[in-house]
Amino acid sequence: MKAALIGPDGAPLHQARRATGREHGPDAVVEAILGFAADLRAHGIAHLGESAAAAGVSVPGIVDADRGLAVYAANLGWRDVPLRELLTRRLGLPVALGHDVRTGGLAEGRIGAGQGADRFFFVALGTGIAGAIGVDGRVEAGAHGFAGEIGHIVVRPGGTPCPCGQRGCLERYASASAVSEAWAATSGTPGADAADCARAVDSGDPRARQVWQHAIDALADGLVTALTLLDPRTLIIGGGLAEAGDTLFTPLRTAVQQRITFQKFPDIVPAALGDTAGCLGAGLLAWDLPTVTDLTEATP
Ligand SMILES: [Zn+2]
Repeated sequence: MKAALIGPDGAPLHQARRATGREHGPDAVVEAILGFAADLRAHGIAHLGESAAAAGVSVPGIVDADRGLAVYAANLGWRDVPLRELLTRRLGLPVALGHDVRTGGLAEGRIGAGQGADRFFFVALGTGIAGAIGVDGRVEAGAHGFAGEIGHIVVRPGGTPCPCGQRGCLERYASASAVSEAWAATSGTPGADAADCARAVDSGDPRARQVWQHAIDALADGLVTALTLLDPRTLIIGGGLAEAGDTLFTPLRTAVQQRITFQKFPDIVPAALGDTAGCLGAGLLAWDLPTVTDLTEATP
C-alpha cells in the first residue's frame, strides 16, 4: 500500500508504504488500511501541525464509488466492503473511494503526463490492461463502474480465451504478462519477462522483434478503437510494459499512425508518476470532495 499526505496542489507532503498483510485474509487487509490511514492522519497533526481535511482511498478490482463499496478484488479476497463508511468512522473525516486505475489515470491526467489535458485516455499495461477516460479533469466511471476496460476489447476475434469469458481480448496479447509469456515460450527461457524481451529487441534479436511487434500490432488495434470512440487529446501509457520507453513508444506511434484514417492522432506519452499515481490520485479525489472544497474556500 502506498499512502501520502497531499497538499491542495496535489504535491505529496509525506509519503509512506506498508504491506497489505493479505496473507492474513481480507479482514486483515481492511484493518491494515484503516490503521494506515489513522496513522497518516496522526502524522499530519504531529509533524505538519494540522489534521487532514479529508481522505481518499483507491483500491483494485470492482469498486462502487457512489456507494463507497469495495465490491470485489480477486487478489485481496474481499467482497462488498463498505470501505468509505469504515474509514469515515475511523478518521472522522469525509472520505472518497476510487478504483485504482481510474484514480491513477486522474493523477496522470491532472498532475502527471497529461498536464491538465481536457480529454485524455490513460492505459496501464501491467498484469492485465485497464484504462481511464479523462474528461475535463475527472475520470468517467460509466453507469456501472466499468468504463475504460480497454483490455477486454476484442482485437483478435475467436482468439485466445480470456478469463472474462470472451476470446481474443487485447490483454491476452499486449499486457506485460502476455509479452512475458510469449517471450519465455519463444526464447525457451522459463521466467524471461517483457523487460528481457525489450532488451532483446534493442540488441536486434529477430525472434524478440517478432514477439514485440505482435504485441504492438494488437495494442495499436485496441488503441485505434479507443481513439475512434473517445477522440482524446493525449494518450498516456503506463504500467510495466511502458518502462521499455522508446522501444515501445516509437513503433507504437507508427502502428497507430498507420491505422488511423479520419481519426486525429493524439500525443502518445509515457506515464510520469510511476506506481505512486494511484496514491496521488486518491489525494486528488479527497480534495475534489464538495465539502472539502467548501472548507478551503471558506478559509480566509
Ligand atoms: Zn477479456
